Amino acid sequence: MDLLTLFSANLLLLLIFAISFQAMSLRVTPSLHWRSWATANALLAGALVCFAFERVLPSIVAYLLPNTLLLLGFGFHLYAARVLARLPNKMSDVFAPAFAYMLVGLLAYVLSNATLAYVGGNVIFTILCVATIFAYTSKNFHGQISVIGLVLAFFFLAAVGGLRIYHGLAGDAPAGPGMINDMMQDLHLMSAMLFVSLTGAFSTALSFEQVALRHKEAARRDPLTGAYNRRELQARLDDLLHPPSKKTFGLVNFDLDHFKQVNDRFGHLAGDAALVKVVAAAKGQLRKDDCFARLGGEEFAVLLPDISRENAAKVADRLRECIADLRFDFAPPDFRVTASAGIYHGDGNELEMEDLLQVVDESLYRSKRNGRNCVTFAAPLTSET
Ligand code: GH3
Ligand code: MG
Ligand code: MG
Repeated sequence: MDLLTLFSANLLLLLIFAISFQAMSLRVTPSLHWRSWATANALLAGALVCFAFERVLPSIVAYLLPNTLLLLGFGFHLYAARVLARLPNKMSDVFAPAFAYMLVGLLAYVLSNATLAYVGGNVIFTILCVATIFAYTSKNFHGQISVIGLVLAFFFLAAVGGLRIYHGLAGDAPAGPGMINDMMQDLHLMSAMLFVSLTGAFSTALSFEQVALRHKEAARRDPLTGAYNRRELQARLDDLLHPPSKKTFGLVNFDLDHFKQVNDRFGHLAGDAALVKVVAAAKGQLRKDDCFARLGGEEFAVLLPDISRENAAKVADRLRECIADLRFDFAPPDFRVTASAGIYHGDGNELEMEDLLQVVDESLYRSKRNGRNCVTFAAPLTSET
């Protein structure tokens, strides 16, 4: 491909992604990373045009403008990556690399030393690429497949940057200060095209992958307390019952006692705060694979997979105790919230989920009738009961 075609293809791709990312930022929330990607692509398009006309630009502009735009563009790429990774971010960090280059570029111009501008610019560029790789490999992207494409894209560019630093130091730097104006122009333009396509495609994929994961998580959580919801509990219970397994599990249902009085006495917001506190305390008592769910109102259930009857009873009682020990900011120190519980233990074989939930519920109401703040075991169950 000739140089003009390569320049035009790069420019077109950058502008297409800049426009589509900007359009996304108007439609999809959160939008900060979309806007940062759009800005990055627009700045890189600007840098590319400057590189193309480098020879006709006044020398000082040729030394400063293209690389400054390029590094600003990559500053925005890093910013977007850190926004998505939920890492601390400052707008000043976006401008710092470009600013650092301006100082180097100015010095190089004064000294008429194009190699200094070339090596300095590429060092900053490579550091930015490596920092972006670190952001995309942060644990917040765990399990997200599209991030691999972005890591590869920036790894590839960091390698190209490293190669240019080597060329610069080895005395092979181009006569001008630009990053592209050297003997491997078309190779650089092809790698730029590969990078722009990779980041364009995988940025979009990653952003929508995150939206999908967020919706999936929201669909199985209770918004007030962050506990799982009834849908998730039933899905996990279904997994335990079908196909039948010989492993025993526990199912505990909790209902807070006289909770209406909490609202009546301290207000609905205090009631909400109490529910949040109860859930946080209860979750702290459980194993990683246990499923603590809010069934509705002030009623909760805990699914305890692969557990003995004795341990299931212990967990249920520990939960009851830890709730009864809680103190609340909105109430006097002697105020307590208690819970009544019903518990099933077994392998669930040949039982339908509805039967199981019903028997646990019945044993919960036996706890209520027996004076509350206690745990009652469901009678042994078979499919005939
Ligand atoms: P019992 O011991 O028989 O369970 O008495 P109770 O008062 O807890 O039972 P009841 O079912 O009569 O009342 C439940 C109350 O829980 C009613 C409602 O005001 C309160 N509640 C349910 N969901 C929420 C919620 O999301 N926030 C708040 N603040 N209160 C809630
Ligand atoms: Mg209640
Ligand atoms: Mg209730």
